[in-house]
Amino acid sequence: MENSLSYAQEQDTLDPLRSYRERFLFPKNEQGDPLLYFCGNSLGLQPKSTREYVSKELEDWAKYGVEGHTDARHPWMPYHEFLTEQMAQIVGAKPEEVIIMNTLSVNLHLMMVSFYRPTSQCYKIIIERDAFPSDKYAVESQLQFHGHSPEDGLILWEPPEGEELCRFEDLEELMKTHADEVALLLIGSTNYYSGQAFPLKKITSLGHAQGAMVGFDLAHGAGNIQPDLHEVGADFAIWCTYKYLNSGPGSLGGCFIHERHLARTDLPRFTGWWGHDKSTRFNMRHDFKPIPTAEGWQLSNPPILSMAAIRASLDIFAEAGMEALRKKSVQLTGYLEFLLNSLNNQHVTIITPRQPEARGCQLSIQVQDANRSLHEQLTDAGVISDWREPDVIRVAPTPLYNSFVDVFQFVDRLKKVLHER
Ligand SMILES: *Cc1c(COP(=O)(O)O)cnc(C)c1O
Repeated sequence: MENSLSYAQEQDTLDPLRSYRERFLFPKNEQGDPLLYFCGNSLGLQPKSTREYVSKELEDWAKYGVEGHTDARHPWMPYHEFLTEQMAQIVGAKPEEVIIMNTLSVNLHLMMVSFYRPTSQCYKIIIERDAFPSDKYAVESQLQFHGHSPEDGLILWEPPEGEELCRFEDLEELMKTHADEVALLLIGSTNYYSGQAFPLKKITSLGHAQGAMVGFDLAHGAGNIQPDLHEVGADFAIWCTYKYLNSGPGSLGGCFIHERHLARTDLPRFTGWWGHDKSTRFNMRHDFKPIPTAEGWQLSNPPILSMAAIRASLDIFAEAGMEALRKKSVQLTGYLEFLLNSLNNQHVTIITPRQPEARGCQLSIQVQDANRSLHEQLTDAGVISDWREPDVIRVAPTPLYNSFVDVFQFVDRLKKVLHER
């Protein structure tokens, strides 16, 4: 690798996915120049095709009214089914194990209704220390709902003192210490703060060996890493589609339920008509009979406009392929790491793991003695990144629309900003 613009340009020329960048809309500065966008970990960019996919549904709604449920070009009644196959590919699941519905935090609660089944002896939940706040709140409220206090019931998997990354050995240790008390392991992969991607299979085996349920939050994993959920054997997983999956602000989330749970009748769940057997859904007089797939956890008929945007994005992912995307991602993030290291700045530390298999595309950069003003200076320099208190910049070069030149320019601008401080 080389620290030069010409090297970055050459890498772009060699990149088989380079043309995908043209399919996205980049925000611009006041002069009309596109910004360096590294915030796909928070809100992915809009594919140019999204407008057309959404417009089609608006047209069909205008043309057919209620009949659009059956007569629209993509009928609304089974609309979620158009998304399942491609979504399943992205997270490495069987189609019957995946459903797009609700939003992430809602799905997390629904999954805990079914898979967090505390008893008076076995009720504790393990999450990682830097779990996303919403996940922590959801878990705490579930503990309370079942009559347990978070102080007692919530166990944090913490990095060693003074470090930022969690170690698998420490999780093993926790499972030992709390043997027979842990009902659920809920781990975010990759972690939103550190960018650390956890070993999903090892965690799942560890939890299952002691009879705990294992769920993963893939908000930062879906469309970024290849989580192979079926093969990993997780009990459930949840994610959103507006980050790496580019489906627009507040769009719907995804949910995975492992095959072995799909036909179980002993699991409690919160139900609604959209989870009921499709053949009698509209008879309205039937006892609830769940669809024997992940669809059986649906509650409501879903927002089609949002699903149209998801379909636009999934079509692009299907075309590019996760394999190729991940391959480029490893190179792109590796290049970012190389350039950051070449800064030779002792105030700059990458807290994300070095091994590609222990991270996705995001690097979390800690800048000693920095505060939010550093982030503001970067923004002024035309970089959209993301700031986490107290001193971390998160940058996520995504293989679909970021280039090697983007990465080069980012580090170049960061260098100037650091110099001026
Ligand atoms: C982004 C994110 C969420 C957001 O949840 P919503 O319900 O979609 O608002 C939750 N958990 C994690 C880990 C996230 O990264």
